[in-house]
Amino acid sequence: RSYQSVGLVIGVTGIVGNSLAEILLLSDTPGGPWKVYGVARRPRPNWNKNYPIEYIQCDVSNPNETKTKLSQLTDVTHIFYVTWASRSTEAQKCETNGIMFRNVLHAVILQAPNLKHIYLQIGIKHYTGPFETFGKIEYHTPPFTENMSRLNVPNFYYTLEDILFEEAKKREGLTWSIHRPNTIFGFSPYSLMNIIETLCVYAAICKHEGFPLKFLRNKESWDNGDVFKWKHLWKELAGQFGIENYGLAESEKVSLVELMKDKGPVWDEIVRENKLQLTKLEEVGAWWFADLVLKGGDIMDSLNKSKEYGFLGFRNSKKSLVTWIDKNKTYKIVP
Ligand code: NAD
Repeated sequence: RSYQSVGLVIGVTGIVGNSLAEILLLSDTPGGPWKVYGVARRPRPNWNKNYPIEYIQCDVSNPNETKTKLSQLTDVTHIFYVTWASRSTEAQKCETNGIMFRNVLHAVILQAPNLKHIYLQIGIKHYTGPFETFGKIEYHTPPFTENMSRLNVPNFYYTLEDILFEEAKKREGLTWSIHRPNTIFGFSPYSLMNIIETLCVYAAICKHEGFPLKFLRNKESWDNGDVFKWKHLWKELAGQFGIENYGLAESEKVSLVELMKDKGPVWDEIVRENKLQLTKLEEVGAWWFADLVLKGGDIMDSLNKSKEYGFLGFRNSKKSLVTWIDKNKTYKIVP
């Protein structure tokens, strides 16, 4: 079979990588028919196994392993870089993530003669600053646009961009794009930041213990929104878990991090009783992330440039939420 495009997805079991593994292979995907190589660090999980991609287990933080395994993929036309590694400080994140990205580019750019495009996914923290300075430094007034200048703090997103600019020069005609999404809805039990899975696990615990499903962040975030309001999505979340008692918490003082800190044994019991896939609470609940996301704030980004480039697709947030909750149930991540 001949292919028009050959994608190399780095982070194929992540929240975006797992969707790319599904979507790139559809018959109506632009640039198709696609052949897809998918790279991730761990063995292939069962929820990713049905996609007809070539799965490559490779730790891209290891230069030798990356070189050995990825430099053989000489037919790659597009790299989709949708991975990251969390470290305690931003300086450490810059170092580790920079090494990972360089390892991949060094292994592929000069080895794949048909390489045309590098897609780099970073995120909205490009504009707000990283988690560690969040709320402590001033940033530009939203809506955020691509031409806004960088903030004067270390940010691993800036490191990745600079590496991309430098490496892409090595091959004439090589194009790139940088994507800075806000919170992503998707399915991946391996993701470090998965808001839907985290909220599903929270709802499952509330249901199990007979607690109301309280939205623990501020009223502004509950009430304000761009195209959706959390209070509307919360109603869907409660409905999906058969919870009638839900709403805004009386106080913002309690966080999910605190509320969930002793719930490991409760989650083990839910997993056992419902014959779910074996997971630990800390793997499926990114409470720190949910606390940040639900806090909301004025962090809207502009989609004008994307639209001007012809990316007119959209999702209805409410329907999207239900789709991804369903997927978490189908794969027995939550009851
Ligand atoms: P993710 O955590 O969902 O998935 C990461 C993937 O990379 C997984 O498949 C993991 O197995 C793989 N991986 C991790 N370390 C690896 C290594 N050393 N070698 C090989 N594979 C490895 O990732 P994500 O959330 O899609 O993050 C990608 C980028 O998107 C990050 O810059 C992140 O900050 C940004 N982002 C994420 C969100 C979100 O809601 N998740 C929102 C906006 C921006």
